[in-house]
Amino acid sequence: MKIYNTLSKRKEEFVPLEPGKVKMYVCGPTVYNLIHIGNARPMIVFDTVRRYMEYKGYEVNYVSNFTDVDDKIIKKANEEGVEASVISKRFIEECKKDMAAMNVRPATKHPLATEEIAGMLEMIQTLLDKNHAYVAEDGTVYFRTRSFKEYGKLSHKNLDDLQGGNRALLVSGEDQKEDPLDFVLWKPKKEGEPYWDSAWCKGRPGWHIECSVMSKKYLGDEIDIHAGGEDLVFPHHENEIAQSEAANGKPFAKYWMHNAFLNIDNKKMSKSLGNFFTVRDIAEKYDLQVLRFFMLSAHYRSQLNFSAELMEAAKNGLERIVTSVKNLKYLLENAQQETLTPEEEALLKEADGLREKYEAAMEDDFNTADAISAVFELVKLANTNAGADSSKAFLETLLEEIRTLTDILGLIVDKEEEILDADIEALIADRQAARKAKDFAKADAIRDELLAKGIILEDTREGVKWKRA
Ligand code: AMP
Ligand code: ZN
Repeated sequence: MKIYNTLSKRKEEFVPLEPGKVKMYVCGPTVYNLIHIGNARPMIVFDTVRRYMEYKGYEVNYVSNFTDVDDKIIKKANEEGVEASVISKRFIEECKKDMAAMNVRPATKHPLATEEIAGMLEMIQTLLDKNHAYVAEDGTVYFRTRSFKEYGKLSHKNLDDLQGGNRALLVSGEDQKEDPLDFVLWKPKKEGEPYWDSAWCKGRPGWHIECSVMSKKYLGDEIDIHAGGEDLVFPHHENEIAQSEAANGKPFAKYWMHNAFLNIDNKKMSKSLGNFFTVRDIAEKYDLQVLRFFMLSAHYRSQLNFSAELMEAAKNGLERIVTSVKNLKYLLENAQQETLTPEEEALLKEADGLREKYEAAMEDDFNTADAISAVFELVKLANTNAGADSSKAFLETLLEEIRTLTDILGLIVDKEEEILDADIEALIADRQAARKAKDFAKADAIRDELLAKGIILEDTREGVKWKRA
């Protein structure tokens, strides 16, 4: 399996640190608003990477954070006159609903920045002890960028170029810094901001430190894959590498994967240009499976342009697969023949070839566009050859094949496979029992499990109500 590594700018063979296991960290959203369709791209892309890895038999430990302390969250909280945590909790819940509706599976762990402050204080102290950081007069702690000799290796920037003319690349220029390249690890609180005690000042972390700490805590010092959108390469991921490698004295992530941007009508998405869509906006018009199909119809490292025409094309493409599955199921219910004919055997060999084609595409740096083409060929083979006189074995194998290959892409093409009402009621009863027993972790786990299946619970005065996303 080949993965394009931003670090080496080449496709490299994937060799996990530990055989059979993948440790993967994906930078998650800052939660101050409903997520937009740009944020949805890394979620869908890396969820698909995870699914493919699992299909290949790897055990994937997938960690993705929510940044729940940040200027934008604080600003919104102050506007509404509530605590920052009210805003972040609200939008984490909303984000989880969108993820479920896009069939993005919950991570193994979704850590929150505000719950990992102790680990951040510890790593900052280690960086101070190792002389990779210093405390300014007002208590701000800065990372001493030049002390990390490999700084710039991910974004392929040269330190002196950064220092020189190109001011746009400077990481802001507070005057207490020893060097304009240094970046904040910890900063003093301002009026009306949440803060934590520390040895240096009452304050809060800089943005980059949380990912270094959460990745270390939940996956270990060295991980296989670190991922996010391409805008994160510099400075965020560059700074994460500097912090982690300077503190741990070990290489951080082996493979760095970055998705390209999603634009709208060939322009950068922006509220002021009026070309801005939340995932919720799209859900008003389309099943979010269509959005997922649209995202995967391009390679993740290609820029993708969102337009009404492309969404319609995605809708039609997905429907073609759904209709084919429906048809195969109908034929299977009515099939008389049990065993394969020699002709069918030959066709199934052809189908095997298409699965190989699909796998080859996925193993070439997750080329989902080509993988989808292989699925379409399979659908065509089914549509042209399956009929009233087909054998059960033939129809079953084709159905299974289409289901497996679309499931890896996280596409639901067979609605009847969804969770039944009775199962939902049973899980809700389990959750109520767990809550009664004050086992809130279990109660939350059940709620998340249901959410992952597209079931949203609402605790009302009349009891628990549920609906499908
Ligand atoms: P943020 O909340 O801005 O940190 O973004 C969360 C994730 O969404 C990051 O991985 C970003 O790189 C990614 N992202 C933001 N905007 C876009 C976009 N227009 N296209 C693709 N990815 C994006
Ligand atoms: Zn991050």
